[in-house]
Amino acid sequence: MRLGAIKAGGTAVVCAIGNERGRVSERRAIPTRLPEETVADVIGFFHGKRVDALGIGSFGPLDLDPKSPDYGTITTTPKAGWEHYPLRRTLMEAMDVPVGIDTDVNASALAEANLGAGVGVNSLVYYNISTGIGGGAMVTGKLLHGLVHPEMGHMLLRPDPTDPAPKGFCAYHDGCLEGLASGKAIEKRWGMKAEDLPDDHPGWALEAEYLAQMCVNTILLLSPERIVLGGGVMHHRSLFADIHWLVVEKLNGYVAHRAVTESIARYIVPPALGDDAGVAGGLLLAFDALKNQ
Ligand code: ZN
Repeated sequence: MRLGAIKAGGTAVVCAIGNERGRVSERRAIPTRLPEETVADVIGFFHGKRVDALGIGSFGPLDLDPKSPDYGTITTTPKAGWEHYPLRRTLMEAMDVPVGIDTDVNASALAEANLGAGVGVNSLVYYNISTGIGGGAMVTGKLLHGLVHPEMGHMLLRPDPTDPAPKGFCAYHDGCLEGLASGKAIEKRWGMKAEDLPDDHPGWALEAEYLAQMCVNTILLLSPERIVLGGGVMHHRSLFADIHWLVVEKLNGYVAHRAVTESIARYIVPPALGDDAGVAGGLLLAFDALKNQ
């Protein structure tokens, strides 16, 4: 079986060929520009490769109601030119194969749940902490959608008293999670990118504080059996140890499960699939689309 996957992000659209076990045999990153030219390059990548189905994990917001006439359309994005772009329909018409679609973070959650850090558990939350922040959730074996789809990256947090920029940087909500803890917020607050922030910089303690608040809210809201933290900011691996003790401290014994009280380092974890979770999730979405056609 040959499956196609697309991970559509703000700076690049990664196209890949692989199988239903998430194994990738070929990939190409295409720079994200206006939709027509970007998607023309995507269709060019898949031309002649005879995939049986395609799975898309995309930035959003997306219309993910299968009964909606705009199913698979990007809705109100601030990304120039992409507003109301019918991504799924355009690719389905061009390639004439079943096409599955979900948010990029739900695709990553799906891959980690089935092939990575969540094997053996039934519910998992995946966060991508990068230029922006997004979260996807698998609840009792199913990806969570609901009204539209979760927008966990914009949950409201409590500003830390040591934060020199407690107002935050989100264009919609100022001090939401993304406004306080995304790669963009780190850069705006400290005047340098996260990857250039020295190991002993106070910015890392502040980052751990906000990501611990995020994990605590997630545990209290969804009670997932595992939390996976991926994305470029989490390449700073020592964040994990700080997040672990801060989460235990903030919960203060209220959630009395041994996953939290005894083995939190196995509960809040890096992605087992590394930065490939999104592409692997696209392959699984393609497989689902093929089964459900
Ligand atoms: Zn926000």
